[in-house]
Amino acid sequence: MNRSQNEGPTADALVARDLRVVWHPCTQMKDHETQPPIAVRRGEGAWLEDFAGRRYLDAVSSWWVNLFGHANPRINAAISAQLGRLEHVIFAGFTHEPAVRLCENLVALTPSNLTRCFLADNGSAAVEVALKMSFHYWRNVGRARKTRFITLANSYHGETLGALAVGNVDLYKDLYKPLLMDVLVAPSPDCYHRDPGESWQDYSLRQFAAMERLLAEHADEVAAVIVEPLVQCAGGMRMYHPVYLARLREACDHHGVHLIADEIAVGFGRTGTLFACEQAGISPDFLCVSKGLTGGYLPLSAVLTTENVYAAFYDDYARLTAFLHSHSYTGNPLACAAALATLDIFVADDVIAANRGKAAYLGARAQRLAEHAHVTEVRQCGMIVAIEFAKNARIREPYNWTDRRGRRVNQYALEHGVLLRPIGEVVYFMPPYIVTESEIDLMVQVAADGIEFATCE
Ligand code: PMP
Repeated sequence: MNRSQNEGPTADALVARDLRVVWHPCTQMKDHETQPPIAVRRGEGAWLEDFAGRRYLDAVSSWWVNLFGHANPRINAAISAQLGRLEHVIFAGFTHEPAVRLCENLVALTPSNLTRCFLADNGSAAVEVALKMSFHYWRNVGRARKTRFITLANSYHGETLGALAVGNVDLYKDLYKPLLMDVLVAPSPDCYHRDPGESWQDYSLRQFAAMERLLAEHADEVAAVIVEPLVQCAGGMRMYHPVYLARLREACDHHGVHLIADEIAVGFGRTGTLFACEQAGISPDFLCVSKGLTGGYLPLSAVLTTENVYAAFYDDYARLTAFLHSHSYTGNPLACAAALATLDIFVADDVIAANRGKAAYLGARAQRLAEHAHVTEVRQCGMIVAIEFAKNARIREPYNWTDRRGRRVNQYALEHGVLLRPIGEVVYFMPPYIVTESEIDLMVQVAADGIEFATCE
């Protein structure tokens, strides 16, 4: 593509301008001296295209948000139609049809005791809302001592200070500890650490014992337990058995503690069911969703909760029990229109059923990487497949982190037309659901070659 075909700037010029003014997320900007950002011109389906016409298969759904492809005609049309009617309106004292319909749909799709929907505009904000609501609920019902939260080791819930505090990935959290509230941490049910021959179920159950003790000891001061159901995504796509969630629900009920399910990454079909909690047959007190909610188009999040929680805030204004939390873009109509179109696609295309075949195919293809000398585990939960590698696979001796082996896989994959963004030494696939079998073949092949490249000396 030369300049005359493309009216915009050249890729080099755009990247140079970018590096003069932009500060990118989750990036050591100095890395761009050797690996500049890729200027994307357009996207279509599972593919992104740069200014030189090179294509990249988006195997990570652009940070786990995209469900039905880039430039999806159905979602595009819904946003365009909404754009002609109303782009945005203050959501306090006003309402609009896209938000009402979306909240109705979410209430209908989520477990039956979740009847109230609070909208925010990104995942971290949803987590903040759930934490504040839980704390505030206990205060409103006269249990002001319940101010603490229990989280799982290796969990991730976002980057704002409250969300970061209830997270447990050192890389993101350690430095900011002086700013963060103190939380109680239970060991993770993450089955990577199970004994040889031990089942996922047995290991997750075994890990539950410590959570049970923590709850028994601290129930008086704990407002809620927060978990990522089934997959600790940012913690390296670590997975656990649904039995843990079933036990946790029982224990939270027993001890009078809320359960917050952060399905921001795993919701909307990623684990094989629409919501991961379904696999444990449980209903949380707070369900946080975002990312795939809009099909990966626009920032939006929702916190669903129970009538009981809602009722504890509902009173005369002078009693000062109201939840006075707000974000300017709460309930943005364009984002709600994208979300409604996304939910329509789930029904029209019977996506959850169709994904079963794709997940089976992806899992089977990825499984052959288990034979690689440096691969310690290939694991899967629905449409998420992760491949973990190490210096010595047999004893799981990790590479020196400063080697940045995962980054080598990333660079190799980009050179070969696939966007993989390993977390440490965990290469994973979390593709849009429109991915085809031949695209899965490509993804897996490039990951295999990339791991070979990154581990060859
Ligand atoms: N919770 C989980 C489980 C997540 O994976 C993420 C994002 N990766 C967040 C919360 C935060 O969402 P956001 O990036 O939209 O703030």
